[in-house]
Amino acid sequence: MISLHGLTKVFPGGVRALDAIDLTVADGEFFALLGPSGCGKTTLLRTIAGLEIPTSGNIRINEADVTRLPPGRRDVAMVFQDYAIFPHMDVTDNIAYPLRIRKVPRAERVRKAAEVARRLSLADLLHRRPAQLSGGQQQRVALARAIACHPAAFLFDEPLSNLDARLRLEARTFLKRLQRELAVTTVFVTHDQAEALALADRIAVMSAGRMVQIGTPAEIFQRPSTTFVASFIGSTPMNLLPGTSTRGALHVAGAVRAAPAGLGEGDEIVYGVRPEYMGLSETERQDGIPGTVAVLENLGTGVLVTLESGDHLVQAVVPEGSEPALGVRRWAVPARSLVYRDGALLA
Ligand code: ATP
Repeated sequence: MISLHGLTKVFPGGVRALDAIDLTVADGEFFALLGPSGCGKTTLLRTIAGLEIPTSGNIRINEADVTRLPPGRRDVAMVFQDYAIFPHMDVTDNIAYPLRIRKVPRAERVRKAAEVARRLSLADLLHRRPAQLSGGQQQRVALARAIACHPAAFLFDEPLSNLDARLRLEARTFLKRLQRELAVTTVFVTHDQAEALALADRIAVMSAGRMVQIGTPAEIFQRPSTTFVASFIGSTPMNLLPGTSTRGALHVAGAVRAAPAGLGEGDEIVYGVRPEYMGLSETERQDGIPGTVAVLENLGTGVLVTLESGDHLVQAVVPEGSEPALGVRRWAVPARSLVYRDGALLA
């Protein structure tokens, strides 16, 4: 278990990279830190690893306060974006390195390295040096080295980011299965929301050194707590349309919808609908957003239809074959919607 209390990191020069973070990652949990560039993900991971000293707050790993312990005494294994494997060592020695540090006898180290290498499909490459490996293979060596020492926690900083799209998907499935088998508490940094949704038991979405929302992938996807999270999650971004409430109704881009409780007269809101939950009507409806079909994009799993509605673009995903023709008029009718006021989820 990893728990963080009031963790703050202010860099010289005044950048507040972490701002009073409270978080508990459960034993065996696969936890993703997600957010745009510069939000503090890497700093948080490096602080847990002991590579940065927090300005204030503390870190516990399995109940022990490790805030002041050096990295080597925290029993965590970190895998970096750039792998950080040793160029002068072959695959066996790279994987076995943490065991050598722990004074495990050579024969045992070699046996253990071979066993981990087999799991990571590196068995045929044991005598190669990093320069003789592809990027994906180097990444697997870094993973293998992390696994070899049976740490209390894995800390991954975008470990899949240097792989091509196909290999990345394979590596993702592989990593998820491996983490399940080993049941080691894992904190995983990514800026790829699809990766976070696919891998994690829970996700924290970060912005400017703070955690904006912490939840399961389903919670974060279905009910993003702010418009920032809403716009960040989903492979096709959520429709976020401005609207106003009057006399119990919402007026959004030419459509009139029922207003949720708690809205006053003339309140400005943002109306959120995932393209997956937006239907298209051929006939005019008062509760539909009128628009003209401007763009059609085939997603493989469906067609993303973009309607032009006054100043707004409204998107819907429809099954392939049922998409309207370019230029025709349609009414976008949400099946599920969210209402935000002042950027925060209201209903
Ligand atoms: P990315 O996805 O681009 O890696 P990130 O979310 O991991 O970004 P961090 O690397 O944690 O972001 O950086 C958080 C903030 O702290 C940024 O504003 C960054 O410029 C700043 N920062 C990071 N390291 C240092 C440092 N050593 N000195 C000063 N500022 C730093």
